[in-house]
Amino acid sequence: MASIFAFYFFMELVNGIYTIQGIDVAEIARQFGTPVYVYDGSKIASQIKSLKNAFSDTDVRIKYAAKALTNVSILKLVKQNGAGVDVVSIQEAQLALGAGFAPAEIMFTPNCVDFEEIIQGVELGLTVNLDNLSVLEKFGKKYGNTVPCCVRLNPHIMAGGNYKISTGHSNSKFGISVYQLQEIMQLANRYQIVINGLHIHTGSEITETDVFLRMAEILFGIAQDFPALKFIDFGGGFKVAYKQGDLVTNVYDLGLRLSKAFKQFYQSYGRKLELWIEPGKYLVSEAGYLVVKTNVVKATPSLTFAGVDSGLNHLIRPMMYDAYHEIINISNPGGTQKVYTVVGNICETDTLGADRKLNEVREGDLLVFKNAGAYGYSMASNYNSRFRPAEVLVVNGEAKLIRRRDTLEDLLRGQIDIF
Ligand SMILES: *Cc1c(COP(=O)(O)O)cnc(C)c1O
Repeated sequence: MASIFAFYFFMELVNGIYTIQGIDVAEIARQFGTPVYVYDGSKIASQIKSLKNAFSDTDVRIKYAAKALTNVSILKLVKQNGAGVDVVSIQEAQLALGAGFAPAEIMFTPNCVDFEEIIQGVELGLTVNLDNLSVLEKFGKKYGNTVPCCVRLNPHIMAGGNYKISTGHSNSKFGISVYQLQEIMQLANRYQIVINGLHIHTGSEITETDVFLRMAEILFGIAQDFPALKFIDFGGGFKVAYKQGDLVTNVYDLGLRLSKAFKQFYQSYGRKLELWIEPGKYLVSEAGYLVVKTNVVKATPSLTFAGVDSGLNHLIRPMMYDAYHEIINISNPGGTQKVYTVVGNICETDTLGADRKLNEVREGDLLVFKNAGAYGYSMASNYNSRFRPAEVLVVNGEAKLIRRRDTLEDLLRGQIDIF
């Protein structure tokens, strides 16, 4: 049976039952309760593999952007599949270390943190990625040529799904402007800083290969002035499909063209370098499903609401980014299609999907949100004092609990009752 499971990289409708790796999703919901995040481990593995294949022509290092989904079992799965990790806080670094990543495999890319946190990163042995001049100066003063660092550049490219998730445009807080190259060089010279990596991450949901290649051209031009490079990091932002017909990043095309350009570059640079990428969404988005239960169906004179046992506290992307997450009624696959506005149970407008055609939704039906692996649980909160969902990972045809649902103790943990 196991060899059959390996072919299911998505939730599939088989004989009227939605399954992940052959397991009935409704059964997972019954066993672990709702709302529950369910991740398909084989999909994560296959995404890593597809990137490795796409870049097989170069010395590629995949640094999974852990902030997309930080569960320790997910981090371990990513590591088992041969990827490193990119972290944005010292706490994420500690989680990655706990999951077994070697310090050298961990790229630390913080933004606007106290210099103390950079020092902690150095002391843990991480590759430290600096994204502003004042930090670079402090770093030089403290470490001189004894600790190498990477520099995050802002290429002034507007790229990605929208302004909120774009990080490489001229008004973005991220990176050191490519127009401040002179200052970077001056600091590097003054303090003998060893800059061993250059980094650009221009944002999320970049569909055109050309944007990455334009970024690459900028980096290659700049890289000639940095003799101590070990790697160039092109960041993440590879887009996956959220609905049928969506534009996606063609990673094969990207791998082919970027590898070729990279090779040409390092030949003129004089030395072979590593090519780093930092996919978050690409590795885990499609692997994740948020399974919820319909509490109420409420018809008003204008709309029919399906009110579910979840909300923006569990999946904030629709309200925060106007993100579209496909919704499926897995309890009634043959039902007549009707139009619903799917909302949560939070005292706040928490529309998870407006005007969705779903197979008739009845109270008690299970709805599944797709693409819930990235920035789903990791952005979840206890707003309204509700519990965060459980998390389940499906590996080798088995559904395993990787985080229990919150309890009242979790809500009170850390609180101090002074009366
Ligand atoms: C968030 C982030 C990523 C990953 O972005 P995705 O859109 O999820 O691929 C990569 N690198 C850095 C520095 C990030 O902050």
